[in-house]
Amino acid sequence: QPKDADAPIKIQSYRYEELSASQRKELLKRPALRTEQVMEICRPILGAVKQRGDAALLELTEKFDRAKLQTPVRLPPFVNDEVMAKIKPEVKVAIDIAYDNIWKFHKAQKTTFGNKRAADVGAAGTVEANEAPEDGVLEVETMPGVVCRRFARPIQSVGLYVPGGSAVLPSTALMLGVPAQVARCPTVVIATPPRPDGSISPEVLYCASKVNASAILCAGGAQAVAAMAYGTETCPKVDKIVGPGNQFVTAAKMLVQNETDAIVSIDMPAGPSEVLVIADSSADPAFVASDLLSQAEHGPDSQVVLVGIALTPAELQAIEDEVDRQARALPRVEVVRQAIDKSVTVIVPDRATALEWSNAYAPEHLILQTISPEELVKLVTNAGSVFVGAWSPESCGDYMSGTNHSLPTAAYAKSYSGVNVGTFEKCITSQALTKQGLRGFGQNVIDLAMCEGLQAHAMAVKIRLDRMA
Ligand code: NAD
Repeated sequence: QPKDADAPIKIQSYRYEELSASQRKELLKRPALRTEQVMEICRPILGAVKQRGDAALLELTEKFDRAKLQTPVRLPPFVNDEVMAKIKPEVKVAIDIAYDNIWKFHKAQKTTFGNKRAADVGAAGTVEANEAPEDGVLEVETMPGVVCRRFARPIQSVGLYVPGGSAVLPSTALMLGVPAQVARCPTVVIATPPRPDGSISPEVLYCASKVNASAILCAGGAQAVAAMAYGTETCPKVDKIVGPGNQFVTAAKMLVQNETDAIVSIDMPAGPSEVLVIADSSADPAFVASDLLSQAEHGPDSQVVLVGIALTPAELQAIEDEVDRQARALPRVEVVRQAIDKSVTVIVPDRATALEWSNAYAPEHLILQTISPEELVKLVTNAGSVFVGAWSPESCGDYMSGTNHSLPTAAYAKSYSGVNVGTFEKCITSQALTKQGLRGFGQNVIDLAMCEGLQAHAMAVKIRLDRMA
């Protein structure tokens, strides 16, 4: 039902103390999604691409994206003078700065697996020639002569989904491509739906070129996920599929990760974007409203939450007035209206209760507009990314600061991290024992193996101990 355009654009508000335990639980829930229904739509799409490869992919791209292509895959070089001329100079500058900052922050993550931490992260885009392959090795001698190691290796083939149905998202190409480049994944496929004329946006092509992608799969939705999961005549099969997308993309990722034919993992189950803003009396109502709306404009399924710490009715009213005023001036006001209808304000008595609410909700984005926001960060147990203080709007993290914008939604921040360099690596462990090491605990291994009834395990040690005797 289209709403009356004059109706106020207002988030429903509640007072924490007046809510029962079951009401609180209800308000912490995300709006329901039609997951099963969407999976039923995706199953035949996955099956078609699995069986008929490129032919099915091209048919589905024509059906869903209205683009008639000769081949679904483009290989580098992705840009030439003609493409670059289509990118506005200020947008190119913005992409370059974003790339450099994302590179710096992600390059510094590379060695966190190991004992060393890089002091100098190096120039953006460069992989230092002297970066030893052993960089990042964690080594512990657990007993004399028993050396255990853990080392990271890049996932050999990854697929990055860059949404493109309703908006052009070069920023997502950077957020996924840079960590894959830092991790040095040898094969990087960027999948994105083509425009009806079959082209890919020049900004996305530029980002694909900057992150040194191996191929661009000009396809979207479940069919793109299927092509990367199973491989086709032209699309390489990948080991992991990463990146946000609409409900068809998410459902397809969830389906293929459970398929033994595909043997593919995914970054995380993704849902509609969301933000939780904690504000106290010190917050500027216009800032708070702008942060809530920048999330609400993502889509009608987005959810925004305002947690007000001891706000007076007049302070809350000031924020509500700003939400209404700013929303009406937005081109996407109808999308915002639908998102605001699903959103919630809770007025809590104090900072501790605000954090309790936020941690229980586990927001994708958490914005702190309070006195001493750094003190609150210490109390955060669940969140995708935190925006600390009045001068840190979410938009900066979405594009420019260097942190990743591909983050867990739908309360998955309780157990998942956002995309990072580790997303594109896996850790391998090793152990090397000397004779002394084996002699040290050989009998203990035998005793445990016998306790578990595994004689061959015991024998593999005993045969060596006998040889030493
Ligand atoms: P998209 O690329 O995710 O999806 C487009 C594809 O959806 C099409 O190619 C088509 O194959 C498929 N599709 C559309 N309608 C279909 C139907 N009826 N049946 C089967 N398949 C169908 O682009 P989008 O739709 O614009 O969605 C982008 C999503 O990505 C949004 O939900 C946005 O919030 C999300 N996003 C999230 C983040 C994040 O970090 N969380 C970042 C950027 C974008």
